[in-house]
Amino acid sequence: PPAEAPVIVIDAHGLPYLDARRPVRERVADLLGRMTPEEKIGQMTQAERMALARQSDIAAYGLGSLLSGGGSTPTPNTPRAWADMVDAFQLQTRRTRLQVPLIYGVDAVHGHNNVVGTTIFPHNVGLGAARDPELTEKAGEVTAREVRATGVPWNFAPCLCVSRDDRWGRAYESFSEDPALVNRMATVIDGLQDNGVLATAKHYAGDGGTVYGSSTTGDYTIDQGVTKVTRKELEEIHLAPFAEAVRRGVATVMPSFSSVDLGAGPVKMHAHRELLTDVLKGRLGFKGFVVTDWQAIDQIPGDYASDVRTSITAGIDMVMVPYAYPEFAATLKAEVEAGRVPMSRVDDAVARILTAKFRLGLFEHPYADRAHLGDVGSAAHRAVARTAAAKSQVLLKNDGRLLPLNRTSKVYVAGSNADDIGNQSGGWTITWQGSSGPITPGTTILQAIQGRAASVTYSPDASAGLAGHDVGVVVVGETPYAEGFGDVGRQGRTLELSAADRAAVDRVCGAMKCVVLVVSGRPMLLGDLSGVEAVVAAWLPGTEGDGVADPLFGAVPYTGRLPFTWFRAVEQIPINVGDAAYDPLFPYGWGLRTDPARDRLRAARDRLATGDGPARAAAAALTPALTGRNWNGDGSVRDARAVLAAVGTAATLLERSRTAAFAQSDAVVSVARDLAQSGGRRPDLQATADHELAAGHLRKAVDLLAQAAR
Ligand code: BGC
Repeated sequence: PPAEAPVIVIDAHGLPYLDARRPVRERVADLLGRMTPEEKIGQMTQAERMALARQSDIAAYGLGSLLSGGGSTPTPNTPRAWADMVDAFQLQTRRTRLQVPLIYGVDAVHGHNNVVGTTIFPHNVGLGAARDPELTEKAGEVTAREVRATGVPWNFAPCLCVSRDDRWGRAYESFSEDPALVNRMATVIDGLQDNGVLATAKHYAGDGGTVYGSSTTGDYTIDQGVTKVTRKELEEIHLAPFAEAVRRGVATVMPSFSSVDLGAGPVKMHAHRELLTDVLKGRLGFKGFVVTDWQAIDQIPGDYASDVRTSITAGIDMVMVPYAYPEFAATLKAEVEAGRVPMSRVDDAVARILTAKFRLGLFEHPYADRAHLGDVGSAAHRAVARTAAAKSQVLLKNDGRLLPLNRTSKVYVAGSNADDIGNQSGGWTITWQGSSGPITPGTTILQAIQGRAASVTYSPDASAGLAGHDVGVVVVGETPYAEGFGDVGRQGRTLELSAADRAAVDRVCGAMKCVVLVVSGRPMLLGDLSGVEAVVAAWLPGTEGDGVADPLFGAVPYTGRLPFTWFRAVEQIPINVGDAAYDPLFPYGWGLRTDPARDRLRAARDRLATGDGPARAAAAALTPALTGRNWNGDGSVRDARAVLAAVGTAATLLERSRTAAFAQSDAVVSVARDLAQSGGRRPDLQATADHELAAGHLRKAVDLLAQAAR
């Protein structure tokens, strides 16, 4: 490559593409018309920042994009150092003829998770449990503000994977096994893109449906494996969330490492012309650009020239090379010159990339907005993450109403995940795989408990004296992992509790009333729970341990519900709502509440009463159900039939209205769910009801729950 070129000063007046008053379409056409084939290919190239032989390669190759792969961080790893790093890279583009800014991308999959001191949200599994589209959007907004403050305008998130198998190493990146719930969480795209950061819907499509093990190789690779589905399953389960993302105007899409097999044998998604071009860009109407996954074109069968040709002609617009940028540029150039990749395809790809850059305002504002650096990890941002963590908690079991705990209690805390920010944050935190220990500032679950209870004894392995405590809190679960490293069956991972955690449960729960908090990215095999009063799925809550402690001590009620079926035995996996023989430990949608049903129904009625016509009609339908004789003293339901009848009528009216009143539907339906859950009967009906609810079919959901309650 040539020696470092001088910074060029372009005369903006004569050049239409630099005129921000012109429509984006005109600016793109003007700029594209000025570009050489090399400059176009440069725009299609994304290198990893560590792979750059020298910073001047950005100008020498006219790179369109750079990324930080997980854990590829500047030293020191501070927000300001990130801003300095990205700005320095950006400055290099000033040395190019046309000065097209580069677009920097990161994986900020639960907050700006590569950077120390940022706000770390629960992983997607937790947001799926919280089932609050507005909260998910808010999480996207906070993430965008922290990402943008460090000069980064592009996020490789959200993962819209519909994980169908708990053994998959990316299960926690999935909002749910149910596409209807994943669709509802696509609001995160708005949270990101309305706040200056482009979102990436990934991994298109079928990443969460790969088959466990492979009949040809006999290995246990599930991540990046083969998704063998019918066309109908592909459409309804795996493509649906991408249709929703496109509807919301998602700017970029990343294909999946996996292959899809629709009956005629597996085809790598990065080579799938029909699904990338005809379906995504054609039928779904995706107008943004497609960026590959990490070195993913290398996995396409054939030599490198064929990898490049096949992927670009299939519909890939930008290639995450991420090391071989000289080789990629030379190969694509040769393929174009030989007429094997049409120039029109290159022009289309570059036009899509430039459109995104113009829309972002990168030409006018290429550098970090340092005024917002102080917002990174701010108290206001952490408060949102704390709320998200609190709402993500799923109360699985609560015998004798042990929860919420009393603040005057003497609490005994044990377990491997009680006092570990790294473990409660999971993978994709500071490093790609994540790690145990105090990797970034935050509040551990133990610290949050210590801030509430009258007295706390902490003994990770439950070896300290057990007598004299009112209640035990045993915090167990997984250690961090990412991608294939979390695949069960590889690297010795299992879905069972570690022997140490299980021993801690046995010791503590054998000596006192106890609650087990499961800090994990997926359901786990917990073993015998007969001596355990309460169990909470805490997922991977992130840096805000206070969010876990809030419902534990009753500051807010438990409201989260399972976004995944909780299996009874590992042999049942894959187990998903809708399966023929559905016999889970806890069905999809399960989640006990700690606020009285009567209070919930009354609050919903009061809010509906101030609404429009249908809302007021629903309120009127609920009023007779609130009469005293239908309820027990503690606010639980006594006359189930009377209450269910009223709830059913209200559901019908709400479903018809589809106005703001619809937001109350969850509170209304939750009363029917209480009744179904109290007996733990017909998990199949309960799970199907929840699926219907996620799809907006209120009345159907209530009818199914009523049937399960009988
Ligand atoms: C992952 C992607 C991620 C990319 C860039 C890959 O290994 O599959 O989800 O966006 O790395 O870090």
